[in-house]
Amino acid sequence: MWESMEYSVLVDVYEKIEKTTKRTEMTAYLVMLFKKVPPDIIDKVVYLTQGKICPDYVGLEFGVAEKLAMRAIALATGVNAREVEREVKRLGDVGLAAERLLSSKKRTVSLFAFMGEEFKERPLTIERVYDTLVKIAKATGEGAQDTKVSLLASLLKDAKPKEARYILRTILGRLRLGIADMTIMDALAIAFTGTKAAREVIERAYNLRPDMGYIAKVLVTEGLEGVKKIKITVGVPIKPMLAERLRTPEEILRKLGGKCIAEYKYDGMRVQAHKSGNRVILYSRRLENVTQYFPDACQLIRDHIKAKEAIVEGEVVAIDPDTGDLRPFQELMHRRRKYEIEKAMEEYPVSIFMFDCLYVDGEDLTLKPYTERRKYLMDILEESDRIKLAHYKLISSPRELEEFFEQAIAEGCEGIMCKSLMPNAVYQSGVRGFLWIKYKRDYKAELADTVDLVAVGAFWGKGKRAGTYGALLMAAYDPESDVFRTVCKVGSGFTDEDLEKLPKMFEPYIIPHKHPRVDSKLEADIWFVPAIVMEVTGAEITLSPLHTCAWGIVKEGAGLAIRFPRFLRYRPDKRPEDATTVQEIVDLYKKQRKITMRG
Ligand code: ATP
Repeated sequence: MWESMEYSVLVDVYEKIEKTTKRTEMTAYLVMLFKKVPPDIIDKVVYLTQGKICPDYVGLEFGVAEKLAMRAIALATGVNAREVEREVKRLGDVGLAAERLLSSKKRTVSLFAFMGEEFKERPLTIERVYDTLVKIAKATGEGAQDTKVSLLASLLKDAKPKEARYILRTILGRLRLGIADMTIMDALAIAFTGTKAAREVIERAYNLRPDMGYIAKVLVTEGLEGVKKIKITVGVPIKPMLAERLRTPEEILRKLGGKCIAEYKYDGMRVQAHKSGNRVILYSRRLENVTQYFPDACQLIRDHIKAKEAIVEGEVVAIDPDTGDLRPFQELMHRRRKYEIEKAMEEYPVSIFMFDCLYVDGEDLTLKPYTERRKYLMDILEESDRIKLAHYKLISSPRELEEFFEQAIAEGCEGIMCKSLMPNAVYQSGVRGFLWIKYKRDYKAELADTVDLVAVGAFWGKGKRAGTYGALLMAAYDPESDVFRTVCKVGSGFTDEDLEKLPKMFEPYIIPHKHPRVDSKLEADIWFVPAIVMEVTGAEITLSPLHTCAWGIVKEGAGLAIRFPRFLRYRPDKRPEDATTVQEIVDLYKKQRKITMRG
């Protein structure tokens, strides 16, 4: 039995982290914390620090909205509901309001204590906070709301005012410490192996099993050797392998050694299907469990994947049931409904095009070359008109590649995926590399490709746009330093309806200052937690003194900006860390220069 640890230790670290924007300092605070934590609760500490109680793919949510939280505060402090609401409005933060109300209550209580009443404080332990949060999340069905309120109130009653602040922020999904996964991995490596070098091993394990709490536990109990042995498991999603992009068939073939297998790049939603007997789970590109939205796709996997256990990947695409033609990606969004799934299935039927196979009946295929993985896939897939292998062709000349691309576009695809036939073409989980290269239609923009950017702030609109945002401040991701660097302001491409919805959509992400992971020279009117990803096109990439993307990389004292950017669509399937990287923007800039110089 290990000793327990007080929640206030965690809260002190949160406070320090909140005050710094430096990643090295954040890492140092975490290292100090992790070293102090009793080994059997390291997983709980890691989850709580991520603002969670379990990995995202489990899909366990607190189900506590602001109103419910306020009821719990009222119950815990004995202050009436109206006053709680007034305090929340005044301070603009439920956590701060709870902290204030509790501290005035505690003052009264200590006065009683002073006057001779018995007064015992029971310090909150991390286990108690964590276990109660789990209970709150698990309370469902009839009476769940009351259960959640009384569980939360019981915690708050025993919490110190500052602890209450963080408990509420956690439960409302607003912890927002600005700590990225990468920082946690660095801190784990330093705390338990003494050097940052172990990060690589930890990251590989995290790609195969994206559960930071579990990995931390293995690291602490079995060491780095234990982490090396972490395997893929049916039912637990694997971080997807991603593609690089190149602009011409010649460049693609040169990179892939003169030949490749080209496949249609379908404009749908990537799914990773985990099959175990009759049970099928579907995970999205960002590892969200989307099983409930696609019972038809699950049935296709169940009936047509001839293996007891398998992990396969494919693209779910909306189709026209009368003609079998492919329909655009946007149609799939109608399938993300909680209710009336039957109706949605009928109105927006789908097909699946399979393209990879990561695991079959006990065998991990991720370290086998693509050519072999495909053989496994062909072996276990029984094709029908609704589930097929992605259409493909072996290519050995730029002309063939171009023709195949034209054909893909004509059939409603986004372009093609060119995949390496080399023996080293393993499944690079969580990595964007040149073993897969995409060749895409460019939406008639002059940019070689569209980019996916993260909204980090906004500017109020004027005139016709008064009351909503005039433009959003958009950023690319810099994985090296784990920050988002601005690259343009997007104001066009939105419909009136889109525009009207913007403030409400961003409401949950508003913060009073620039987020610690955002690098910007521009002062936005409103700042956001980097969360929402949008696909953007533009005329060209230029040097800019205003934007921080690639600052000083191409030219001293200048960054890169996208000129005439235009919003194309939201990318709910991407996390902010999946956005286009600073390096990719630099590459797009260089390619464009080469082309103008040549021609
Ligand atoms: P994009 O924004 O271009 O879809 P991405 O960042 O989501 O890119 P990439 O790895 O760059 O992901 O491009 C591959 C994506 O294309 C996959 O995530 C998948 O959704 C889709 N796709 C469609 N057809 C295929 C295919 N045959 N092989 C691999 N991926 C495919």
